[in-house]
Amino acid sequence: MSETVFAKIIRKEIPVDIVYEDDVSLAFKDINPQAPVHILVIPKKSITKLEIVTEEDITLLGHLLLIVKKIAQEVGLDNGYRVVINNGNDGGQTVNHLHLHILGKRKMTWPPG
Ligand code: 5GP
Repeated sequence: MSETVFAKIIRKEIPVDIVYEDDVSLAFKDINPQAPVHILVIPKKSITKLEIVTEEDITLLGHLLLIVKKIAQEVGLDNGYRVVINNGNDGGQTVNHLHLHILGKRKMTWPPG
């Protein structure tokens, strides 16, 4: 499978507005924000989508969620926020590298479109 734009972002070959980084994860502002706050949290490990994760990834997945919580606190999403993982075609996934969307600073609707 061909390399994704997120692999290039992890290698710092494409500039992004980084919000958080550690050994295993990176968070940066979405280039096409769907809310006043729209941040993507990604693993540095190459995982195409949620569908392929295994028990080996349990710690990493938990870590990503904890990072989501920390970032949400840091950017002041005190009134709530939405966390989204789009998986595969019907899920609306457009970049084949697992990512969690953090969306906030506006009232979300339900169900999502
Ligand atoms: P998906 O539709 O796969 O769930 O989400 C992919 C997200 O990646 C989209 O919201 C899109 O705007 C974002 N994105 C795609 N390419 C880039 C890029 O080069 N830089 C940044 N910052 N975000 C990107």
